[in-house]
Amino acid sequence: MSVNISEIFGENVFSMSVMRERLPKAAYAEMLDVMEHGGNISMATADIVANAMKDWAVEKGATHYTHWFQPLTGVTAEKHDSFITPPDDSKTLLQLTGKQLIRGEPDASSFPSGGLRATHYARGYTAWDMTSPAFVKEMSCGTILCIPTIFVSYNGEALDKKTPLLRSMEAVSTQALRILRLFGNTQATRVTPSVGAEQEYFLVDRDKYLKRRDLIYTGRTLFGAPAPKGQELDDQYFGVIRYRVGQFMADLNQELWKLGIPATTQHNEVAPAQHEMAPIYTMCNLAVDQNQLAMETMKRVATRHGLVCLLHEKPYAGVNGSGKHDNWSLTTNLGENLLDPGDTPNENLQFLLVLSCIIKAVDRHADLLRCSASNPGNEHRLGAQEAPPAIISIFLGDQLDSVVDQIVSNADSVQLLATTKLYFGVPTVPLIKKDATDRNRTSPFAFTGNKFEFRMVGSSDSIADANTTLNAIVAEAMCEAADVLEKADDFNTACFKLIHDMLSAHHRVIFNGNGYSDAWVEEAARRGLPNLPSMVNAIPSLTTEKAENLFTKFNIYTKSELEARAEIMYETYAKVLKIETQTMIHMAGKHYIPAAIHYCTRLGQSIAAVTGAGVAAPVQKELLEKCSALLSQASEALEKLKVLLPQVDSMDDVPAMAMAYHDQIVPAMAALRKPVDELELLVDKAIWPMPTYGDLMFEV
Ligand code: ADP
Ligand code: MG
Repeated sequence: MSVNISEIFGENVFSMSVMRERLPKAAYAEMLDVMEHGGNISMATADIVANAMKDWAVEKGATHYTHWFQPLTGVTAEKHDSFITPPDDSKTLLQLTGKQLIRGEPDASSFPSGGLRATHYARGYTAWDMTSPAFVKEMSCGTILCIPTIFVSYNGEALDKKTPLLRSMEAVSTQALRILRLFGNTQATRVTPSVGAEQEYFLVDRDKYLKRRDLIYTGRTLFGAPAPKGQELDDQYFGVIRYRVGQFMADLNQELWKLGIPATTQHNEVAPAQHEMAPIYTMCNLAVDQNQLAMETMKRVATRHGLVCLLHEKPYAGVNGSGKHDNWSLTTNLGENLLDPGDTPNENLQFLLVLSCIIKAVDRHADLLRCSASNPGNEHRLGAQEAPPAIISIFLGDQLDSVVDQIVSNADSVQLLATTKLYFGVPTVPLIKKDATDRNRTSPFAFTGNKFEFRMVGSSDSIADANTTLNAIVAEAMCEAADVLEKADDFNTACFKLIHDMLSAHHRVIFNGNGYSDAWVEEAARRGLPNLPSMVNAIPSLTTEKAENLFTKFNIYTKSELEARAEIMYETYAKVLKIETQTMIHMAGKHYIPAAIHYCTRLGQSIAAVTGAGVAAPVQKELLEKCSALLSQASEALEKLKVLLPQVDSMDDVPAMAMAYHDQIVPAMAALRKPVDELELLVDKAIWPMPTYGDLMFEV
């Protein structure tokens, strides 16, 4: 298959260059201005842009348009409206007005609102995010023009993930500019977080998938004994890509490129049938949109190849789960990366200040960062000896680490500088260079040369929350730094002192060792770092005074928006666990236990026949005894779960219910899984009702 990337790249995007071609000069200039400096375009211009967008989309075969938004379900939402207007005479007109482009009023009553809407009105409003380009999506129901929008309540409260993200980008831009001004940078007018999300996923044969009710209903296997082979030979990681998978990847790349998503790397991941795709980084909110679109595209393309793409964080027990590395840096509109250690002392000082702000931010709000990467699927990953631990720490690499150590231990470095002109008393400082060798896969938050890599986010999750949190916490630390430094008489001295103070107070969060070890869990506790092993332990961090102060200060979340989000997280956790439990009850009761009974009956018949012929049947007898015992255990565990579920699920207090799911249901689920998985290894494969781990992972 030969593909000309430059020909197809972005062909389905209503990009700036398409606008430049198709819009009158004045309208284009107005769009450009609003995209760069914020504000709104006039209604007259909106009409012109809408019409050009519609014409372009219709040429691409589009019949409908939709406001494309990101409600708090974590996935995207769309409701298609055709371009057809009610005909006032005999001919039908295709139309998209400025008003339709800019604003929508979808019925919001079925989206999670955490109580925000109940107090006001049922309606939600969508509004165009001009900074993320419109695109057409080719779907089985037709080609659809998608207009990225925010989604808010009648009172303007955020009901989605994009609104707070945009607010956080504004905050970090404003505060980072204050820092830049202190260093004499008067040119830059905007600082934007750059984000590149590495996406891990599993592929499974669709026919086999359709035989697993657990995969269908929950996205993960709730039962399944380990296959004889797992990932122990490390032969999958970066291994040769199998034929069908390769065809999927080629097809996926083309689809992503058409959508303007710069998919660049692809490789096999650690677990059997696990893979990764990474695009080239781009501005934060576009990266979030593109990641959502990439996940959706992966699922769609997989179907064409007789496959299903599993984005769940832990589809299979016992092998690696999937995450999303959120690579994050700050870039000015002139292209300067604030996380790039510079070549001159002045650049280095700015870098050290920015770095110190980030270290302070991460240490102070470790709980919020952990919470931002929480979803029910990630419960099986974080802290499970294969993904980052649930404890937040920062990896800096040897060189930066020693710089920080020297600064922390050298309180009179300012003095040193004054007398010897030695730069900050740290000879290595001017030499900080990209250290590409820094690789610590166990760290949840690692500096990798000119960006931080936040590795906790789950593979199925939106990266919006993680980036909103990162932007917010860094904005706060920068704001506090600027407050001090703007008043300083002697900037350099004040700046050195501030860096020294910040690093002294917060270097406890830096850890370069093995994050998977038990020793680290103890050491972290000694350092006073929070360890929130479960999502239900992390949710309260959203509503602390500390969180409220942070988010309200920069108008990112109101108090009620935070409370709503906490409520939704508890609800989501409880609902997911309920579905998983119901699925287990169904599978055990309808499939596994009947299959085991069937096998026991056959063994009994065999014993009768064989002993009837005058021959002992010791193997059958032993098997029958083992299977019967496991059958009793499974049946007992099933009954327990059946009794427990309605008890837990009828609790009125949602946080308490989520906690009860975690404390009571999770162990009861494990108690049911264990005997069933053991039975799987004993029962005749011809009778076993489901594809096994071996079938699922090794026959793709
Ligand atoms: P890894 O070795 O961890 O797989 P890569 O070098 O392949 O990392 O990069 C991973 C991701 O980081 C890619 O999406 C890439 O575009 C992104 N990335 C690279 N530089 C930056 C940066 N300065 N800011 C944000 N993301 C970046
Ligand atoms: Mg990476």
